[in-house]
This record gives sequence, C-alpha cells and structure tokens, in this order.
Amino acid sequence: MTGRPLLGAHESVAGGLHLAFERASADGAEAIQIFTKNARGWAGKPLAPEDAARFRAAARAARVPAVSHASYLVNLASEDPGIRGKSLDAMADEVARCDALSVPLLVVHPGSHPDPARGAALAGQALREVRRRAPRSRTRILIENAAGQGHSLGRTFEELAAILRAAGSPAWLGVCLDSCHLFAAGHDIRTPRAYARTLAAFDAAVGLSRVRAWHLNDSKGPLGCRVDRHENVGDGQIGLAAFACIVNDARFASVPAVLETEEGSQKENLRRLRALRRPEAREERRRELA
Ligand SMILES: [Zn+2]
Repeated sequence: MTGRPLLGAHESVAGGLHLAFERASADGAEAIQIFTKNARGWAGKPLAPEDAARFRAAARAARVPAVSHASYLVNLASEDPGIRGKSLDAMADEVARCDALSVPLLVVHPGSHPDPARGAALAGQALREVRRRAPRSRTRILIENAAGQGHSLGRTFEELAAILRAAGSPAWLGVCLDSCHLFAAGHDIRTPRAYARTLAAFDAAVGLSRVRAWHLNDSKGPLGCRVDRHENVGDGQIGLAAFACIVNDARFASVPAVLETEEGSQKENLRRLRALRRPEAREERRRELA
C-alpha cells in the first residue's frame, strides 16, 4: 500500500479487455480505467466467460487496480420512462460486468435534469434500484462530479450529497472527483490554499472518505467555464500546482487517480504526474517495490 494516490490512466481495450493491462504496464501506470463495453452504446454484447477469466488473470498478474467507466448514455436522473428504463438496464449490466471481471469500482455520471433537487432524488432512487437487482454485488458505484454543462447534475458538492442521501448513503456508493470538472464547475484548485479550501468544502458537504477515485485531467477552459474539455497535465488552465497537491495527498492513499487524456498521451502525462511526487512519496514507492 502506498500513502499516496495510485497514478494511472484510462486504457483502450481494443483487441480484448485483458490487453488494457499490457498498455498500462507500457505506460507505467499503477492503476487503470477501462470501458467494459462500447462507451456510447446501451447494451454491450454479453461478456464471454473465457474473456472475463483472461481479464481476471491479467489483473492478478499486473497487480494494478482497475476502475470501470459506465456508458455515457446512462442518465439515472431522467424523467422519461423509456430513457430511465434503458439507463437502469444498462447500469445493471455495467455492474454485472464489473462483478464478472472482479473490477471493484464503477464510475458513472449522475445524469441530467433541469431541476437539480428532483434530479438528485431520481438518481438516488435509480442507484438503489440498480443495487437491488444485484444484492450480492461487490462493485462500488462512484458518482462523478460534473463540469456543469447543460443540466448535468453533480456540479455542486450539495448536489452530490443530495444524490448520496437519496440513495440512502450506503457503503457501496462513493464519489469520483475529476479535476477538470471541479475547475470547470468553478471550484478553484490552482494553489495549495485554493485546493485546501475546495476540499474542505467537499468534506463538509459530502465527506472525503467517499472519494474512491480521481480523474486527473487539466482543463482547456477557464475556472467556472462549465465546459468539459480535458487537457494534458500542466498544459491547461489548472496547472501543475494543483496536481502536485493531489498526487501527494495522503488522504487519498491507494486511491486510483487516472488520466483521461488523449489516447497515446498517457505515458508522458504519467511522467509529468510522477515528477510531482515529493521525495518521501517516491521513497515510499521504491521501498514498496523493493
Ligand atoms: Zn472524468
């Protein structure tokens, strides 16, 4: 175990789910995020038992924790019965895939609704229903904070807290914090002081112990722009100081912190993140690998 977040990246599963671990290893990743099916579709083709077994074996060999990201089509806060039904089915399928693959964490966007209070109630109910369909699931579902584009929920910490409450604040539900979305939503993290203030506000509203994953992305847009456009670490409007705070934050010990930058950029972005680790963190990692 490390006293700092595990630095990793979203990796392609082209050619087979298990190949993500080879890509992670080539990039020097300590954690990975994958889609277990088409990210822009509702239902995936069923997972073949031999593919699941191959993935689990690769995960054991790599000793790299995996996070799954749910389909972008899922809208747990939808009022429309058709979309709601499809979202529940798709999410139940995502959970079943994670259980089959022994992937412990599943990130999902909370959804969108013009009325945040009503949306939070609907999303919370939907999460409960998804879990009711898989009572023995070992997958923790993480709702991701939003940049605040359109009617997307989860821009404010209060909205995230309201969804958790509506779901009954169960242990199987947590939060994934995306640095780009935080910043685009208007939560400043550019200096150690701003970072401390933003995380204290999150802690007061939601609780830092709910954070089980990070998405580490810089932002093309400025503070509060409400536009979700990822940039390479240090090349955007957030800057390296914020990432230095996150990668050295012992409150997120062993929490997967994965990049969602462009395909092919993972290795260089991971190099930049690792360079921000303070010596004590690097030393700890060396001891751990020895
Ligand atoms: Zn993200």
